[in-house]
Amino acid sequence: MSSTSNNNKENGANGTIRLPLLALRGVVVLPHMVMHLDVGRERSKNALESAIEGESMVVLTAQKESGVDEPGEEDLHEKGTVARVKQVVKLSEGNLRVLIEGLQRCEINRINYFDPYLESEVAILEEHKNGDRHTEALMRSLLDLFEQLVKNNKNISPDALQTVKEIEDPGKLTDVIASHLNLKKEDRQQLLEVVDPRQRMEKVSEMLHYEMEIMELERTIQNRVRKQMEQNQKEYYLREQMKAIQEELGEKEDKKEEVEEYREKINKAGLPEEVQEKLFKEVRRLEKMPAAAAETVVIRNYLDWVLDLPWSTFTEDRLDLGEVQRILDEDHYGLEKVKTRIVEHLAVRRLTRKIKGPILCLVGPPGVGKTSLGRSIARATGRNFTRITLGGVRDEAEIRGHRRTYVGALPGRIVQGMHQAGSKNPVFLLDEVDKLASDFRGDPAAALLEVLDPEQNYSFSDHFIESSFDLSRVMFITTANTTHNIPRTLLDRMETIHISGYTEEEKLEIARRHLIPKQLEENGLTGENLQISEGSLRETIRQYTREAGVRNLERNLSTVCRKQARRVNDEPGYSLKLTQKNLKKYLGVPRYRYGTVESQDRVGVASGLGWMETGGELIPVEVSLMKGSGKLTLTGKMGNVMQESAQAALSYIRSRCEELGLEPDFFQNLDIHVHVPEGSIPKDGPSAGTAMAVAMVSSLTGAPVSCRAALTGEITLRGRVLHVGGIKEKVLAAHRAGIKKVIIPAENRHDKEEIPSNVLRQLEVVEVEHMDEVLREVLVNFQLPGMESPEKHLPTDVVADDGDYDNAVINH
Ligand code: ADP
Repeated sequence: MSSTSNNNKENGANGTIRLPLLALRGVVVLPHMVMHLDVGRERSKNALESAIEGESMVVLTAQKESGVDEPGEEDLHEKGTVARVKQVVKLSEGNLRVLIEGLQRCEINRINYFDPYLESEVAILEEHKNGDRHTEALMRSLLDLFEQLVKNNKNISPDALQTVKEIEDPGKLTDVIASHLNLKKEDRQQLLEVVDPRQRMEKVSEMLHYEMEIMELERTIQNRVRKQMEQNQKEYYLREQMKAIQEELGEKEDKKEEVEEYREKINKAGLPEEVQEKLFKEVRRLEKMPAAAAETVVIRNYLDWVLDLPWSTFTEDRLDLGEVQRILDEDHYGLEKVKTRIVEHLAVRRLTRKIKGPILCLVGPPGVGKTSLGRSIARATGRNFTRITLGGVRDEAEIRGHRRTYVGALPGRIVQGMHQAGSKNPVFLLDEVDKLASDFRGDPAAALLEVLDPEQNYSFSDHFIESSFDLSRVMFITTANTTHNIPRTLLDRMETIHISGYTEEEKLEIARRHLIPKQLEENGLTGENLQISEGSLRETIRQYTREAGVRNLERNLSTVCRKQARRVNDEPGYSLKLTQKNLKKYLGVPRYRYGTVESQDRVGVASGLGWMETGGELIPVEVSLMKGSGKLTLTGKMGNVMQESAQAALSYIRSRCEELGLEPDFFQNLDIHVHVPEGSIPKDGPSAGTAMAVAMVSSLTGAPVSCRAALTGEITLRGRVLHVGGIKEKVLAAHRAGIKKVIIPAENRHDKEEIPSNVLRQLEVVEVEHMDEVLREVLVNFQLPGMESPEKHLPTDVVADDGDYDNAVINH
């Protein structure tokens, strides 16, 4: 500070110097700081002028209180800074703007009150130069801290960092860093008063830490505020949008109207009290909710469902049973026994005046009219009709519905059915009860039991509706393909009526009276547009369908009608007579061959008769022999019972080898393979026993099996032929296939009564008690000792009865 010490103002006695004094308000200038000051007070301006006249040096010291205008010694801090005035600019209102540079700390020993300014006598405070390791470490940590600060604080320019890094003097370092910090006046004054650079470094370091913490805090606060603001803004924005949408749609008004409408509907619906109360509660909830809340959709859906149910709508029952019979006859051809039983069932119900009592279950193969009978019962009794199918239902919730808490929940099928019925006393058809499944999701059969049980069904509970619904006035009818798979508990409550399938003649009649008129009408045709000859219809039945019912027949007729409709569309007035000759053009290549499966008597092949869900079936059994070691191979997906039958048949043959003319040890060098096509379709049951025995005997003895005969019957080890089921269906199937002789167990004698007489006229049904009789009946040119074969070698090419029926037109 030699320049100052050479000041031309008189030096004080003990190294003090005299310099004009500038009292500062609100600022503390540290050494090495370069800054602008605006000077307005007269005294200060005069002090500056005096300084400029000399060596441009002044002493700057801060006022303790900024408010004092004419500060005296006691108003000023004792420590100040010697500074150089670098530039003075006059401002408009007589003020001066000064650029000054702080040079060194000083202590003010005395103040002389000159007029027109103050003069101070100051001693320069020299700093210790301590360059030890401690100082070095402090300097580095200070630099690091400052670097971090610069990175995080946008107000400090990165250039400042560069300048600071070049400073080697610790004292200067602290002052320069402090000049960049946003310090309070008091803190700055404190720094000014610490002369020891090391102490000052610690102080500055503390201040830097403090500054960083504040900055961190500031940042978190800012983030929080920003997030909050964003959230608020978003919500505000969405709400405004919602309001705008609601206003646009006029929903407020709509909702009021809607709520009123619901109230009115509830009052009028004739609901049970508890349901009514529940619905009112829901309406109140709806009223309170903002129109766009997701929950309103759920409530509306619930209200709509419940209100649309027929709580108090009834149809009047038709009481005249004669009329009921007439309508059933009108809708369905044949089925006399079935119709009689239905009328009887209704009569009992009427007499007992209650719905309790067994539930009708119509059992039979597909397409025999079970569903349409149900519909017809509804028409005959004047009730509404509704139908659900239970095929594949494995979840209890499908019967009882899902609770409303599930997204997209709906009532169960029963309530849906009632909704569709539109009255509280409909005929309700439950299709395919035998196809119900059960698994971990609960047992739908149990739920169904509650539906069908008259003791319980007056208060059926659905999870979605949450109120009980009275099903006691509903007339339930079920359908199934077989009774085997109907859960026992359900079956116990049912009165089963079997419908077995139709003969060709019956199918012809059904087609003539019902299917053809129905299809013509559905396709917009008249008898003028399309005439169907009996021959073509027979051919359709024989060669394009193989079924117990008439579903495929109807489908084929519909195909013809559709094609004809298209033609008539292009060429109005076009008329077609469908005959055996042009049938192919409409239905394509025949799908089945009519006649026996085999057209020749063959060795080792017998026609068994099976009974499946789809009706009777002709099942050929093939046997072939190979050299081997007495193995019996069974293929064709036979079930256990069927395999055992095959073994029983073989054991019977082995026990009768002498009578059959076989070597006693014939089996030792042979393998027998029994195959039942079609190999991929599972088959089971004992009724192919006789057929398998016949096929084996035939291949062992070389006697051919008559291709005109088919057989069914269980076989015992001793050759007795036992009772089997489904005789009517089997005989019908044999008839369909063109078989002329059917061998049945004598125990099934009574079933013969079921077989339509026109079928019996066309084929012979032979009752047998023992295998010996069977062999005699079906093996050609074969004679058991003491028995004569009535079956002579007949002409082998058995051709189906396909006379020329084309002259007879069926729908005229
Ligand atoms: P299922 O329910 O037994 O499978 P559908 O009731 O669906 O059979 O019957 C199939 C079609 O056959 C229906 O169009 C039905 O009207 C008709 N049908 C079946 N049997 C008769 C019959 N005896 N008289 C008149 N139409 C019948």
